[in-house]
Amino acid sequence: MRAADLGSDIKEVLYTEEQVHQRVVELAAQIDADYQDREVVLVGVLNGAVMTLADLCRSMNSHMTMDWMAVSSYGVGTTSSGVVRILKDLSGSIEGKDVLIVEDIIDTGLTLSYLLQNLSSRDPNSLEVMAMFRKPPALTSSVDVKYVGFDIPNEFVVGYGLDYAGHYRNLTDVATLAPHVYS
Ligand code: 5GP
Repeated sequence: MRAADLGSDIKEVLYTEEQVHQRVVELAAQIDADYQDREVVLVGVLNGAVMTLADLCRSMNSHMTMDWMAVSSYGVGTTSSGVVRILKDLSGSIEGKDVLIVEDIIDTGLTLSYLLQNLSSRDPNSLEVMAMFRKPPALTSSVDVKYVGFDIPNEFVVGYGLDYAGHYRNLTDVATLAPHVYS
């Protein structure tokens, strides 16, 4: 679904499907160059990173496997609950492996710092992060994100896997929503 199909629900398109795709291809090339002959475990953070991981791995030439984690951070609204809980853990061990966490968006960095702490305690050989979008608060938090798609303004965005109350994940563009959607 394109932003144009949503009519008045959309306030502004920040990135088109084509711009997002182009950036994913660039990041995949960077990741390929960094990992070369090493096999990387892509750890997708459900549900938001589904589109990013699916597109990223198909643009990569490196050998990879994928695994998924689900954590709760936001509830149904647009503010962080401040509490991170594991809803679904990895299926396999990451001990001795080269792990790349694939995140949809980083806001406060709270979710990511929890994930980094949790996964590093499982003794991977390396642990890096890719985030499709990053908001300004993340720049002042201590989390180190090696691969960033786009640094975006401090606004709530939907599309490309990102939802509002479960909706808009299938929007292929990335956009902000009109105020009436929230009321
Ligand atoms: P953090 O812990 O960094 O504050 O929040 C990260 C998580 O909050 C993301 O994985 C995502 O689920 C959610 N989130 C943060 N900002 C946005 C946003 O602008 N739009 C949507 N849909 N989710 C967001």
